[in-house]
Amino acid sequence: MYYMGVDVGSVSTDIALIDEEYKLVEKIYLRTKGNPIKAVQEGFKILKNKYEDSEIYAAGTTGSGRMIAAAIIGADVAKNEITTHATAALEIDKDVKTIIEIGGQDSKIIIINNGIVNDFAMNTVCAAGTGSFLDRQAERLEIPIEEFGNYAMKAKSTVRIAGRCAVFAESDMIHKQQLGYNYAEIIRGLCDALVRNYLNNIGKGKTILPKVLFQGGVAANIGMKKAFENELGFEIFVPENFSMMGAIGAAIIANERVKKTGKTNFRGLKLADNNIFSRSFDCEGCPNKCEVVKIYENNNIIGYFGDRCTKWSSKTAEKSKLA
Ligand code: SF4
Repeated sequence: MYYMGVDVGSVSTDIALIDEEYKLVEKIYLRTKGNPIKAVQEGFKILKNKYEDSEIYAAGTTGSGRMIAAAIIGADVAKNEITTHATAALEIDKDVKTIIEIGGQDSKIIIINNGIVNDFAMNTVCAAGTGSFLDRQAERLEIPIEEFGNYAMKAKSTVRIAGRCAVFAESDMIHKQQLGYNYAEIIRGLCDALVRNYLNNIGKGKTILPKVLFQGGVAANIGMKKAFENELGFEIFVPENFSMMGAIGAAIIANERVKKTGKTNFRGLKLADNNIFSRSFDCEGCPNKCEVVKIYENNNIIGYFGDRCTKWSSKTAEKSKLA
């Protein structure tokens, strides 16, 4: 028996299958490329060659595209990233007090007290420090992103890089290259700057206590981990499945829901082959004039989202009982 979690972000779509002991048995990473429907269907194409629908007991979604993903797959729950990341982290260690999460396009901090989310902050505006920004710098320096952190670790000294904004950080890196600093020193300086930026912005006013878990794709970068440890003054931990924590959390919550209700709304892996598409319209129901998105499967409407008042999405909710 497996539980599925689907995390649809603006950069990547992650699909996790976990077993009854909440161990990750399958992970699929796909680029969303602005088309979450296609990304989910591609993932399901891979899964349907390996699993039967009857083996999937529950399904949940998370991420910025969770509502569209929920409508497509017939999710039992659709939860925000704060809840799913915290759920997955607490499953690893009940004593976790802080989660640092840095993904492709955004970053967050989650403060946990006695196993409950006490406070959080998200940054979706500033690109500096996100995975996409680090990808871009690695590409510019012609260093594989997987090697980026190792470069930082090789540096004998650091150089101060202005990390407050992506544009300044990049131009300051170029300036330091021109001054003759080597790549290792510059990359270490960049990691230090991005960590300072994170702690001064998203971490502002937050008490960061151990145990800290570092999650999201950027946690692969050992240079960032080290820079956080230097700033905080204690060890931080990167969970084994650091890049899949949102999807794993969604799967855990979906299982808990289905255990209570006794049945899943999951529509099955066959939807990989169906013609799924969306159309939007402006609702005239009130002055908000929401842009509502309708999801079709083979010309049948399977869900709505984008309305502020649930006038339309409640039709989805009726059908699939979304949380
Ligand atoms: S969906 Fe609801 S809030 Fe949005 S315009 Fe229609 S009635 Fe108003």
